[in-house]
Amino acid sequence: MSQVRVRFAPSPTGFFHIGSARTALFNWLYARHTGGVFILRIEDTDKERNNEAFLNLIYDSLTWLGLNWDEGPKVGACGGGDFGPYRQSDRGAIYKEHVGKLLAAGRAYEKDGAIWFKLLGERYEIFDEHRKKTVTKVKMPPVVIEDRIRGRVERMEDEDFVIVRSDGNPVFHFVNVIDDITMQVTHIIRGEDHLSNTSKHVLLYEGFGVKPPVFAHIPLILKSPEMGQGKMSKRDKGALIEEYQQRHFLPPAIVNYLALLGWNPGDDREKMPIAEIVRLFDLPGVNQSNAKFDGKKLANMNMLYLQELSPVEFATTSAASFMTSVETKPYTEAPHFSQVMQLAQPKVKSIEELPGYTRYFFTEDFVIDAKVREKVMAKGEPKARLAELIEWTRAVDFSGEAALAEALKKLAESKGLGFGDYQAVARLAVTGTNVGPSITGIFHVLGRERTLRRLERFFTTL
Ligand code: GLU
Repeated sequence: MSQVRVRFAPSPTGFFHIGSARTALFNWLYARHTGGVFILRIEDTDKERNNEAFLNLIYDSLTWLGLNWDEGPKVGACGGGDFGPYRQSDRGAIYKEHVGKLLAAGRAYEKDGAIWFKLLGERYEIFDEHRKKTVTKVKMPPVVIEDRIRGRVERMEDEDFVIVRSDGNPVFHFVNVIDDITMQVTHIIRGEDHLSNTSKHVLLYEGFGVKPPVFAHIPLILKSPEMGQGKMSKRDKGALIEEYQQRHFLPPAIVNYLALLGWNPGDDREKMPIAEIVRLFDLPGVNQSNAKFDGKKLANMNMLYLQELSPVEFATTSAASFMTSVETKPYTEAPHFSQVMQLAQPKVKSIEELPGYTRYFFTEDFVIDAKVREKVMAKGEPKARLAELIEWTRAVDFSGEAALAEALKKLAESKGLGFGDYQAVARLAVTGTNVGPSITGIFHVLGRERTLRRLERFFTTL
């Protein structure tokens, strides 16, 4: 078989959303799996709705997700190719030439200033109640689409349709098909919402005497139950790729999650390296049933990838989230920033929660949670434990976390108590809360002076 050529054909008329990213990904995966070519084509014929900012968002989002295109508009290391231009707005001459071909072959005609595609078959007239006029219908068998995912689909077409509007602009169906023909696209992988257009596309292929490519319509993405019913829309929370970029999600985690929205590796594995997904991805593996978006699952996938980052990668990724606020930006310059990140890494679910989660490491101006305080102070003899901790802190070896943990255990044993009797009050005093990394890890990163100051300061409030 000749080389696979697939394309992602977005229109720059809105924000880049999960559904578009998933369509791009499935095309990219199929190209990479088969050693084929992944084309980016910009369908920007709708002059009123297109916008350069949305176009740049397409380039940025694909690049951020790592979905590099082999042919298409040239951006960074992506793009170029022999089948351009790759923006429909630059392909007017090609469309004109193809209109000419259909007119010459008797498969198109002019009427009311527009150009129509002519169906082949017996014609008859009928009064259409809905449109309140007489229309010409064409008797012909249903158009058959052998869809690689949906199976055999039959659709009726019984009227000629416009291919160039009276204002001179060619319509979506027409330019889409000409591009797929001239770019030698072999497989059309796109959202199921385009299945209803496909019969027209098949007829146009036939009109040009070209065998249609393989069609593979991928199932819709539905809202998660808490979002309501129906198809996920651009307005739903969590629908835009930009949002995940701002929240410092890791692109490989999103890609991994999106791959599972409608596809599975044939077993119940979820977290998989991209190379493994590329190896296993195939069109027969794409489900027919709709996929349900689940923001929690995506966040969980992101957490699994976060835990795998090296300490240096984690600190670099985290720093970006601290940079977005004037309050937390200086924290990244603290000498113990990387140490704090290392301590927090196994504990956090997302990068965005880090500035809040670790704030007390960088400022003395943190709040003691009143509810936690009430709970901690109600149990045992926290004041006595704190006094002992203060003494202990003055003398203990602060050079390593393990030594501190050992020493705290010894202190507890020497008093006939447990580690826990010291932990809650110590945590409250030095962090203001009851959650966080290990207490001796916190002591170690803060150092003796600051730990002591915080313990003493809290003691004076009792
Ligand atoms: N421009 C169309 C869209 O954004 C894509 C059509 C296609 O993939 O054939 O939905």
